[in-house]
Amino acid sequence: MMVGLINAIPVANKDEYKNVGVYIEHRGDEIKRSSLEMIGIGKQLARKINEKLLCVVIGDKVDGIAKEVGEYGCDIVLAAESPDLAEYRTMPYAQIIGDYIAEYKPNIFLLAATRNGRDLASRIAVKERTGITADCTVLDVDENRTLLANRPTYGESTLAEILCRNHRPQMATARPGTFTPAEKEKDHKYEIVKKKVNVDKNMLKKQIIKFIPKKATDLTAAKIVVAGGLGLGGPDGFKLLQDLADLIGGAVGSSRPPVDLGWITRDHQVGQTGQAVRPDLYVAVGISGKPQHVAGMKFSKVIISINKDPNAEINKISDYIIVEDYRKAVPALIDAIKNFGK
Ligand code: FAD
Repeated sequence: MMVGLINAIPVANKDEYKNVGVYIEHRGDEIKRSSLEMIGIGKQLARKINEKLLCVVIGDKVDGIAKEVGEYGCDIVLAAESPDLAEYRTMPYAQIIGDYIAEYKPNIFLLAATRNGRDLASRIAVKERTGITADCTVLDVDENRTLLANRPTYGESTLAEILCRNHRPQMATARPGTFTPAEKEKDHKYEIVKKKVNVDKNMLKKQIIKFIPKKATDLTAAKIVVAGGLGLGGPDGFKLLQDLADLIGGAVGSSRPPVDLGWITRDHQVGQTGQAVRPDLYVAVGISGKPQHVAGMKFSKVIISINKDPNAEINKISDYIIVEDYRKAVPALIDAIKNFGK
C-alpha cells in the first residue's frame, strides 16, 4: 500500500533543483543558536558542491536579522515581512516557506529540530511531496548532490544513513547542539530579497493576546553543566547540584528519569530526547551513561563522573572519575572549591 502511494508521486527533475536552503528561527533581533548551527552546516554543504546558501527569515521587522544572516555567510537571504508574522504561526509560515521552495527550488532544505522547526518541517515535506530525515546528527553531501542524512537509530546504537533519491528538495532537521554554530565572515557578499506579505486571515484562526517567554534553561549555551541522574535518589539532590553549579558558574542538567519522575523540569534534560550539549566541563552525578544520555553530552570537552559504581558505563568516556556516594563527594567538592587558595 505504502509503496503504491510513494510511487504515485512523480519523480522530481533533479536538474531543476539547486542550492541549499535553511530556515532561520529568531526571537526579536536575536537569531537562535540552533539556527546559527544550521547556517554553519548549510554553508559547509553548499560550499562543498559549489552552490549557494539560501536562508529564509520570517517576521514582522526582519531587516536587522536578514543582514545578520548575510554576515554569517548566507548568500541569498529571503526575507518575508508582515505584522501578522511577528510571532510564529504554523500555517502562514509553512505557506511562505513552501512558496519560496516552489520559486527557488533548493536541492536541500534544512531546519533545526526545535519545536517550531519540527512543526514546520513535516508540513512542508508533505506539501512538497518529498522525504524528510528528522533529528540528524551528521549531514554530508556527495558528488551527485545527494544529501547523506545520518541519524541515530535503535536507541542510539546505530547511525542510519537515509537518502531521498527521487524527490526534491531533500529535507532534514538537525538536532540542536550537534553542529558548530556559524561565525560571522568579514566582507562576505550577500543579497537580501525582501517581500511584504499579506497574510490570509483564514490562516490566523488563533489570536495571540500576549507572548510570555518561558524561563527555560538553555543548556546548549552553558560552558559548564552539572547533571544529575536517578542516582540522586530524589529532588533534593538537585539542590546540592545547584549549589555546586552556582559556585562554578554552571547550569544544572539531568538525565531523563528524574524528569519523568518530576524531580526537575524537562528543559534540563540532556540526551536523545532532550538537549544536546557540548560544554567545556560536564559533571555527571549519579548517571550511569546509557547511550540515550551519552548522545547528548559526548562532545563535552572534559567529563567528570561521580558515581558509586566503579564500573558505570559513563566512566568509559570520562576524563576524571570519582567513585563515591555523591552525598559525600559533592559537599566535599563544594568545600574544596570554597577553600581553594585560603
Ligand atoms: P540509571 O541508569 O538508573 O543510573 C543511575 C546511576 O546512579 C547508576 O550508575 C548508579 O551507580 C548511580 N548511583 C546510584 N546511587 C548513587 C549515589 N548515591 N551516588 C552516586 N552514584 C549513584 N535518557 C536520558 O538521560 N536522556 C534522554 O534524552 C533519553 N532519551 C531516551 C529515549 C528513548 C527512546 C529511550 C528508550 C530512553 C531514553 N533515555 C534517555 C533513558 C535512558 O535509556 C536511561 O534509562 C537513562 O539515561 C538512565 O538514567 P540514569 O543514568 O539517571 O539512571
